[in-house]
Amino acid sequence: MSFQRIAIIGVGLIGSSLARAVRAHAPTTDVRLYDASPDVRVRAAALDIGAVAATAEDAVRDADLVILATPVGAMAAATAGFATALAPGAVLTDVGSTKRAVVDALGKLTPEHAFFIAGHPIAGTEQSGPEAGFASLFEKRWTILTPQEDSRPGYADALARLSAFWTMLGARVEIMDPDRHDLVLAITSHVPHLIAFNIVATAEDLETVTESEIVKYSAGGFRDFTRLAASDPVMWRDVFLANKDAVLEILGRFTEDLAALQRAIRWGDGDTLHEIFTRARRVRREVIEAGQDSAAPNWGRDQSAEAGGEDKG
Ligand code: NAP
Repeated sequence: MSFQRIAIIGVGLIGSSLARAVRAHAPTTDVRLYDASPDVRVRAAALDIGAVAATAEDAVRDADLVILATPVGAMAAATAGFATALAPGAVLTDVGSTKRAVVDALGKLTPEHAFFIAGHPIAGTEQSGPEAGFASLFEKRWTILTPQEDSRPGYADALARLSAFWTMLGARVEIMDPDRHDLVLAITSHVPHLIAFNIVATAEDLETVTESEIVKYSAGGFRDFTRLAASDPVMWRDVFLANKDAVLEILGRFTEDLAALQRAIRWGDGDTLHEIFTRARRVRREVIEAGQDSAAPNWGRDQSAEAGGEDKG
C-alpha cells in the first residue's frame, strides 16, 4: 500500500466507496473521513468505514493522501479550508467528474509542500449518500489521472504512488490531459445525462400524454433514461457549470446529427436510418467486448421482475 493515512473529504457515494475499498484491500490503512453535513457525518460513523473527524483540518492533518470527493463546485472552498493543515509531501487528489476547472482552481490552492494530482474514476451509480457506496465500485473501471506539469522532485513519485493506489482498488489507470478528459467525458457521460434530464422533463411537460401513462409504459425505453436522470442534481449542476465549453461543443454536433435523423424520418429515408442504427449497434458490441457492460439481455435485469414482459419500441 503506497499510503498509510488517507483522508476522504465528502462521504457520499464515491467517498464512502473509496473508504470501503481501502478497508477491503488494505485493512491496516488509517482512514479519516470528513463531510460538511453533520447528518452525513453521523451516518458515516454508523457505517464504521473510517474514523469521522469533526473538521476537515483534523481529517487531513498527518494524512499522506487526501481525496476530495465533494461535488466539483465545492472543491475550491473545501481545499481553501484545510490547505494549511496538509502534511509535508502529502498527495492531494480529487474524484470530480470534470478536470480543467478543478486543475486550475486546486493547482493554485495547493501549498508548495504538497503535490496535487487531479483524478476521476469512471465509475458510479445514480445513487448518492454514504449508504450508497460499495467496495467493488472501481473494479475493472478506468480511473483517469490528469497530472500537472510539475518538475519538482517528488512529483513523479507521487503520481506513481497514486496510480498504484487506484490499481490496488482494482481500477485501470490512464493519464490524460485535463482538456482532453473534459471533451471525452462530455460525449461519454455529460451529454448523455443532459439528454436524459431533458427527455424526462419533456415527458413531464407533455399535455397530450398523462404522467401515469408515461410511468406505466416506461419499459419501452423511457425508464432507462430515468435511471440516468435520477442522478444527484447538485453534482450534475456543477458538472455543466464546470465543463461548459466541451459540453456546448458536443451538443452542437449532437443537434446537427439529430436534425439529420429528423430529416431522414420526414423524407422516409429508411436507408439512412438503417445505416445509423447499424453503426450504433456495433458500438454497443464494442462496449461489451471492452468489459464495460454486461452482455446479458436487458442489462442483466431480472426478467421475472418485469410486469407483463417487455416490448421495446
Ligand atoms: P454525493 O453522494 O452527493 O456526496 C458528496 C458529499 O460531499 C455529500 O455528502 C456532501 O454533503 C459533501 N460535501 C459537499 N460540500 C462539502 C465540503 N465543502 N466539504 C466536505 N463535504 C462536502 O456525491 P458523489 O456521487 O459521491 O460525487 C462526489 C464527487 O465524485 C463529485 O465531484 C462527482 O462529480 C464525482 N463523481 C461522481 C460519480 C457518480 O456516479 N456519482 C462518478 C464519478 C465521479 P451535502 O450533501 O450536505 O452537500
